[in-house]
Amino acid sequence: MNPTLTSSDNFKETLKQQADIVRIVGDYVKLKKAGAQNFSGLCPFHAEKTASFSVHATRQFYHCFGCGESGDVFAFIQKVENITFPEAVRLLAQKLGVPMPKVSFSSPAEARNAHLRMALLDVHVRATAFFQECLRRPEGANAREYLKGRGLVDETIARFRIGYAPDSGFLLRDALRREFDEELLRESGLFSWKEAASSELRAASNPSHDDDPSELGARSSQPAAIYSKFRNRVMFPICNDQGKVIAFTGRTLSTDDKAGPKYLNSPETAIYSKSRVLFNLDNAKEAIRKLEYSILVEGQMDCISVYAAGFHNVIASSGTAFTELQAKLLGRFSKNVVVNFDPDTAGARATERTLGLLVEEEFTIRVLTLETGFDPDLFIRRKGKDAYGAALKNSQKYFDYLIDRARAMFPVRNSESKVKAVNHLLPHIQRVPSRIVRDELALEISQKLGIDSAVLRQELKHAATTRSATQVKATAEAQVTGAERVLIRALASATQMQASGERSSAREGTDEEFDPARQAQYALQSEQLYEGLTSQSLMEALLEAGTETADLMALPQTEEDRRLLASILMNEEEELTPETVEGAVRALRRIYLRRRLEETQLALQRPGLPLEERQALLQEKVRLKRALMDPGLEEKAS
Ligand SMILES: [Zn+2]
Repeated sequence: MNPTLTSSDNFKETLKQQADIVRIVGDYVKLKKAGAQNFSGLCPFHAEKTASFSVHATRQFYHCFGCGESGDVFAFIQKVENITFPEAVRLLAQKLGVPMPKVSFSSPAEARNAHLRMALLDVHVRATAFFQECLRRPEGANAREYLKGRGLVDETIARFRIGYAPDSGFLLRDALRREFDEELLRESGLFSWKEAASSELRAASNPSHDDDPSELGARSSQPAAIYSKFRNRVMFPICNDQGKVIAFTGRTLSTDDKAGPKYLNSPETAIYSKSRVLFNLDNAKEAIRKLEYSILVEGQMDCISVYAAGFHNVIASSGTAFTELQAKLLGRFSKNVVVNFDPDTAGARATERTLGLLVEEEFTIRVLTLETGFDPDLFIRRKGKDAYGAALKNSQKYFDYLIDRARAMFPVRNSESKVKAVNHLLPHIQRVPSRIVRDELALEISQKLGIDSAVLRQELKHAATTRSATQVKATAEAQVTGAERVLIRALASATQMQASGERSSAREGTDEEFDPARQAQYALQSEQLYEGLTSQSLMEALLEAGTETADLMALPQTEEDRRLLASILMNEEEELTPETVEGAVRALRRIYLRRRLEETQLALQRPGLPLEERQALLQEKVRLKRALMDPGLEEKAS
């Protein structure tokens, strides 16, 4: 066996034992005590209004009875942070203040990549400081003027670490070259180079007085000199949600046609993937959690203005359409969002895709439509923050907004235009994952458009079938007897981790020998008492696992069984004793015997039964009846 694997497994287990899943989950979900050992809250993985997400304090797992997500503390972190397992281990270690064992990478490529990412973050720290410094210097005068013109005060400029990239293509390079090698700088996304002669390079790099031609000459045998991609631009750092600068957007201050695009973004690098980043999330995430909604705007300037006006829960999509990853990222903090860009404007298709994605991720969306010609930045500067606050309060539910728009597009008078309006709305409704919500929307639309509800429902029903079916599963929980619950708890106790140590030591001296798992295993296996029960497959899975498994929730074979196990464990109140386990076994015996008796009686009613068989069945019937009368099977008052 691989020794590194074993030691990291040990570390993982140690970490898991030290972590309190209730506290860890509590960082993301507001939990309330719901029972002796469980807590509940709103599921972070699907949208819901009543809490169906439960965390078991002693058994250290979570389960959502709404969407079926479940697992241990690592699974939770992985899912909620959208990261890999090793990253989840690292993050948990960080949260607990436990030092990580020496990192072992699975391949040299992985190690190289990790080092590259660390080094690129350092490059961006230095570059950010460099741009900030340039903004303060005399050559930053135009940039300062521009920012003042946009209404940004020093505090905001400092908060967003806004800087200035000087006109020279070489200053940043020279500053960074003292600390980092050129190979790394080429990977940073901050530099360009031309695989051509140095004369062309100099023309392209907009040379200024501090260019040193002799240096260029000296390096002409090198792979091609690098120069800054961002020149004469106001620099807005783009941060990951931890607040680390990973890229920049540069707003040009040049007016000549050589200046390139108005806004220039860093290309994708080892640390920057634009589909995974939301502008300002690092500053906004606390406020989003506290206020329980976010404000989504389109541009970075809009975002900065709204933030500076005191609305700290604002983030920007940076002009491009939302990606699923961004939606999931945002959803970690709140599933309520006010979208403040006009879905009818130029980027209408990108906007529609953004909204569609948010619908699919089960966000509750409101639309804030400002007067024509106003973006959030302009609106706040002209009308003030109170007006913006009022506009926020008056934002409209997304589907109300859509219905209004459909009404305007197809003034509802005759049935033909009503059908058109419905057809216009249908694709939007189809995106909603919840069938119940789709149903509600159908009702609302039929009322608002004045359409006979039955007709619309017919349309929606058809629409729903073209969508991947969301089945409502019949629940097995209701059919499981108390005895089955006790035995499942007993079987599950075989895998209980450190918490069980505490519990049994508390019982020490009363009956040390009691092992509920062994008692249940013995009884169930020797008599096959679980046959034909609702919980049969779950019991079998637990019996097969024996005592070797640490991750209890990984055992059930089906979604339904996982749900059943979670519900039983979440609701365990009284402690298991030899008497309760024995009582449960007796109850299963009774159930078993009664079922056999019924089967026997049914068999006896079969016409044309051969005499021999009839005799055998009658004997069996007598035996079962006797067995059922055995005083050992009586329910004892405990
Ligand atoms: Zn859920």
